[in-house]
Amino acid sequence: MIEAAIISTGDELTTGRTTDTNAGFIADKLLTLGVDVVAILTVGDRPERLRWAWTEALRLAHLVIATGGLGPTADDLTTETIAALFARRLVTDPEVAARIRQLFALFNRPMPDNNLKQAAFPHGAVIVPNPLGTAPGYRLEVGSPADPRHLVVLPGVPREMRPMLVDSVLPWVATLAGDEPIGCRTFQTFGISESGLDEVIATIPGEGRWSFRANFPEVSVRVTVRGRDIAARLDAFAREVYAQLGPYIYGEGDTSMEVEIGRLLCERRLTVGVAESCTGGLVGHRLTNVAGSSAYFRGAIAAYANAVKEEMLGVPRALLERHGAVSEEVAAAMAEGARRVLGVDVAVATTGIAGPDGGSADKPVGTVCIGLAAAAGGTTRRYQLWGTREWVKLLASQIALDWVRRHVLGLPLLEIGRRDPVPAAPGREGVAPG
Ligand code: AMP
Ligand code: MG
Repeated sequence: MIEAAIISTGDELTTGRTTDTNAGFIADKLLTLGVDVVAILTVGDRPERLRWAWTEALRLAHLVIATGGLGPTADDLTTETIAALFARRLVTDPEVAARIRQLFALFNRPMPDNNLKQAAFPHGAVIVPNPLGTAPGYRLEVGSPADPRHLVVLPGVPREMRPMLVDSVLPWVATLAGDEPIGCRTFQTFGISESGLDEVIATIPGEGRWSFRANFPEVSVRVTVRGRDIAARLDAFAREVYAQLGPYIYGEGDTSMEVEIGRLLCERRLTVGVAESCTGGLVGHRLTNVAGSSAYFRGAIAAYANAVKEEMLGVPRALLERHGAVSEEVAAAMAEGARRVLGVDVAVATTGIAGPDGGSADKPVGTVCIGLAAAAGGTTRRYQLWGTREWVKLLASQIALDWVRRHVLGLPLLEIGRRDPVPAAPGREGVAPG
């Protein structure tokens, strides 16, 4: 198995102005190839720090992938540092230089000389093309033939780096990894905690490496297998995972709850609408993050004030007065109102107390009622969530979306508290039995 280290460079990272998203992206992709990431090092734009990072990374791993420091400015030092560290002279690549000149001509701008710096590479480097920017990346083999070390250098800009990694670097890494076949499957879950998942997964027999990732409010679990009969072994794992966790799994691979709902609604030619109080439009926002959502999403009514619940959704005033806006009765009436007003097959409603103020003894902060209305009738439920205002909103939107998914699939509603008290919550924030 190959081991890799990742280096993220830039003062913007060490000062906290930019969050390092590159390292996570690279690590995740490497894992799917069975490459073990042993360390991620982050350093600022200083030659001595860069030297330290490269030296340490190469001590730890045979493959080092770095991002950042390839720009034209004086603080971009990656290439000079590598050339000095491995005693390689810098060679200007005429094709890359011509392309940089061309790009500037295209935009009718004079080219500052320092841009040509991006066309210089340590001797022996293999260029990794950058279809979306001026600076290509490169890879370089150092060390001895008996103990080769591979360096890969990519630009820091995530939207340039990602396609370069996926299209050019990963296929090459796969050849390094040798002939041992490897495969993985990633299951996306909602409504069960990481520890709850772990407990279930621990009972599944078979040789595979399981890894979990909590990304509030979801947890994904991936199984990686090596050796023979990859497909059959992955299928056997999947059968077991679905048998034990079926309703919690909303999709596989790179997907999201809203993408999966879109797929389901399209398949079944159903339309959806939303009535939102405590989520303030978040459910509609998430649904419309999916391209093509106009095929099934009719609209969201953000009915925050009671008067709007009455006027736009037809929630009876008596109901609001008797039960309060945060109640299962009102959630049901909001969903029914949205179904009628928006003319949809399925409508879902959220009403709750996101906090930090506004809670009471019988309706503490985090009380959220969800309602769903469909031709066959309606359902409501009250949940007790907790965490910051933002978390309560996010979790409420996730539960509402999950209700739509479960409704379309004919699955039972999410019973938080019965099987598992805390879905995917790092730290203390999450869901209590409701
Ligand atoms: P550079 O290639 O070092 O000139 O980086 C260009 C820009 O890419 C920086 O200004 C950051 O905004 C962004 N960037 C660099 N490294 C990272 C990283 N590890 N994660 C996310 N963004 C990054
Ligand atoms: Mg930089």
